[in-house]
Amino acid sequence: MIYLDYQATTPLAPEAREAMLPWLGGPETIGFANPHSPHRPGRAAAAAVELAREQVAALMPPGGRVIFTGSATEALNLAILGSGARRLAVSAIEHAAVLDTARAAAGELRVLPVDADGLVNPATRFDDVDLVSVMQVNNEIGTIQPVEQLAQAAHAAGALFVCDAVQGAGKLAPPANADMIAVSAHKLYGPKGIGALWVRDGVELSPQMHGGGQEAALRSGTLSPMLCAGFGAAARLAGERREEDAAHVGRLWQAARAILSRWTLNGSPTERWHGNINLRLEGLDVARLMSEVRDVAFSAGSACASGSGRTSHVLTAIGLDARQAKGSIRLGFGRYTGSRECEDACARLETAAAAQGV
Ligand code: PLP
Repeated sequence: MIYLDYQATTPLAPEAREAMLPWLGGPETIGFANPHSPHRPGRAAAAAVELAREQVAALMPPGGRVIFTGSATEALNLAILGSGARRLAVSAIEHAAVLDTARAAAGELRVLPVDADGLVNPATRFDDVDLVSVMQVNNEIGTIQPVEQLAQAAHAAGALFVCDAVQGAGKLAPPANADMIAVSAHKLYGPKGIGALWVRDGVELSPQMHGGGQEAALRSGTLSPMLCAGFGAAARLAGERREEDAAHVGRLWQAARAILSRWTLNGSPTERWHGNINLRLEGLDVARLMSEVRDVAFSAGSACASGSGRTSHVLTAIGLDARQAKGSIRLGFGRYTGSRECEDACARLETAAAAQGV
């Protein structure tokens, strides 16, 4: 199986797995201790959690704190609902974790359009808005948004700026002037089941989860030292390998583009993360392609939209009609994708598509 679905999730880095193992200990160890207990095993677990917090914070701008959550979805709910903002502006191509949360929170919701490249206008101005949320890298088409300019415009209007950096964290520099940044471990070679919200000092939030008062009373619930340690190690590694990882996906992108040269690229050719390539062929039957090339794991449009039968809201927002959107596929590659396997998968996709007569 060739795995080309890195936007859905990434493999666990061996270094992250290694960091997790001591905290999976059985009764003969102390690795199972509750990090909120004051005794020695508890303090050892708490130290592992704090080390992980520093490692995740190293991917973030200075001047804030990291709150661990169960996922980026939870982090975005804490940011948007916890801010108490009622007048919201979000881009049309946000992940459902932002769009649906904003719909649930908003008294008034402004949806910011994107152009045919999938980019929000950096000159957008915000009036009568309390909170703006725009993602760093889109999960379906890989476009990189002008988030620092949008954060500046939000601040000029007295609004908070939230950035969903799930697909950008560890790959790009963080948006330096955001007020809150949501990240997820499993998109940067860490474990599933843990995310974080970075909150700039001075930003006030109200908890969305009540109970034992963990995470500075913002997110009650016992933390998993194992998941924190895996997240921390993955974050450290991502920071160390940022340039190497980017160069690697850049080479894969070139090779994939060359093999799939007659396919049309969805989203900006320049403002993008090269580990994502979303392509279309007029008249392509994607379900048939998936069943014919079943030893390549890739996605139809988006992992979230695929399977639901709904046309992707992202592809619709960049102006594709239903037929074009349904003829689109998303390939995602990353650190552990070999050049040979990437080229092999692309060649198989091209051959199978050509056999459909498209
Ligand atoms: N935001 C983006 C851009 C994503 O790609 C995802 C996951 O697909 C999420 C948010 C949600 O992340 P999590 O799986 O940690 O809830």
